[in-house]
Amino acid sequence: MIRINELQLPLDHPVEALRPAIVARLKIADIELLGFTVFKRSYDARKKNSEITFVYILDVELSNEAPVLKRFAKDHNIRPAPDTVYYPVAQAPTDLNERPLVIGFGPCGLFAALTLAQMGFKPIVLERGRDVRSRTKDTWALWRNKVLSPESNVQFGEGGAGLFSDGKLYSQIKDPKFYGRKVMHEFVRAGAPEEIMFVSKPHIGTFRLTGVVSSMREEIKALGGEVRFDSRVTDFLINDGRIEGVQLADGEELRSRYVVLALGHSARDTFRKLHERGVYVEAKPFAIGFRIEHPQSLIDTARLGKYAGHPQLGAADYKLVHHASNGRAVYSFCMCPGGMVVAATSEPGRVVTNGMSQYSRNERNANAGIVVGIHPEQDFPGGPLAGVELQEQLESRAFELGGSDYCAPGQLVGDFIRAKASSSLGEVQPSYQPGVLLGDLAAALPAYAIEAIREALPAFGKQIRGFDRQDAVLTGIETRTSSPVRIKRDNISLQSLNTRGLYPAGEGAGYAGGILSAGVDGIKIAEAVATAMLADRQA
Ligand code: FAD
Repeated sequence: MIRINELQLPLDHPVEALRPAIVARLKIADIELLGFTVFKRSYDARKKNSEITFVYILDVELSNEAPVLKRFAKDHNIRPAPDTVYYPVAQAPTDLNERPLVIGFGPCGLFAALTLAQMGFKPIVLERGRDVRSRTKDTWALWRNKVLSPESNVQFGEGGAGLFSDGKLYSQIKDPKFYGRKVMHEFVRAGAPEEIMFVSKPHIGTFRLTGVVSSMREEIKALGGEVRFDSRVTDFLINDGRIEGVQLADGEELRSRYVVLALGHSARDTFRKLHERGVYVEAKPFAIGFRIEHPQSLIDTARLGKYAGHPQLGAADYKLVHHASNGRAVYSFCMCPGGMVVAATSEPGRVVTNGMSQYSRNERNANAGIVVGIHPEQDFPGGPLAGVELQEQLESRAFELGGSDYCAPGQLVGDFIRAKASSSLGEVQPSYQPGVLLGDLAAALPAYAIEAIREALPAFGKQIRGFDRQDAVLTGIETRTSSPVRIKRDNISLQSLNTRGLYPAGEGAGYAGGILSAGVDGIKIAEAVATAMLADRQA
């Protein structure tokens, strides 16, 4: 197989144009080309109003590859294709009795459990929330009727925090073993659109993700795994530095010497219990801020110029950074084109925002977090759980500022920049449900963060015309950008620094940020657990 990089074709090219383009690029006869697959397709829209073309990476199969590779030896865009197929690292013996436990069924726990099940290890998954169908109802109860289910919501339940999301599936992690391809491949097998395998910024959208997750759960069960909902782990049985099992909220104890901790960033009670039991936990940086909403058409025009609204390009996104004069970095986070701002609390009396969209991304507004990076030493000294406490305080204050009924506090961007409370909306209608209470957001975050965001918005307006327009809406607050703790593991065995058999993983442990990287971490952890189980058996 040969890989061709950087093959460009016009935006509106028909599918049939690819084959002759490959033949021409490789200077071969059509009959020599046995087949090809698109590995990646992207477009470059950085130069506004110049022609946008699709840029392909293609893997091609030829009847005789050697002479072609020789002919193009000096051309770095034509190379042997790397092997991106996933090969399992282990196979469980049929008489293996011990079963690994996986706590949490977000993307990390899902891929840890699936990979373990595919290798024959029959994991037991313990998820505090409910299955996708019940969870969807519970989540809508908050958005529509202001009724929160603390164990079944945007953060907790089958599919984890990524279920009600934009389903963006890209990440900047280094992935030399192509685990990300396995994540995509499994999603496609479970019903995700095939294009996620090759478009440069793939996304699934909420509605499709729910179907994908439930079909992956069925595969885990068919392979001998078990998935238990309404099963909150409340304690850890640790003896002499080794995990021996866990206790559930109903008092049941489950014994295993191999426990994957795929908790997500909102399992504050579980972080506290781990710390209490002496598992090594440390504070880590995260970010706080607001969600911002603009008309999607404003972003499309700024980003795509004359191509705005082109069906091949879809709704445009953005990524912005500003280094404020008070030393803070302000950046856009989890941008959702054509989506909605959502109520993302898992705790009573708290308000926190995030963003989601459907596959079509055709809602009126674009939204993104506009957040400020914060650090333990500078902003929340006081121990491993100080970041959790800060999040709790800020989210409680946001609840009060929103009227103490799960509405969120909001302010127009122009008013925020001029430090003036807002009292009425302009053209942009905020999408957050159950509603936004306009006022002054200055009290919602520490002064340094307000100052930095105030400076950043006009700077962003220079990059995207209209970004700082008067009636763009800020909704507060964004606090769960990543985990406030790291449950540290050693780099080789991937076990907790001081608790053998405990495998901290995914976003909650500080080892992932986003669906794809959490899935990749789940695969790595599954491999580590499988390898350890086989080694311990032979010892
Ligand atoms: P989680 O997905 O948080 O899963 C952890 C699971 O553990 C939860 O289901 C929880 O119920 C369970 N759990 C916790 N404690 C216990 C316990 N004690 N016992 C049993 N179970 C427990 N990322 C992207 O890449 N693209 C996006 O478009 C995107 N959009 C998002 C939109 C929203 C609204 C939110 C909230 C997040 C979004 N994210 C997105 C972030 C992404 O969802 C997370 O990075 C990802 O889900 C982390 O995966 P995880 O498996 O590590 O943790």
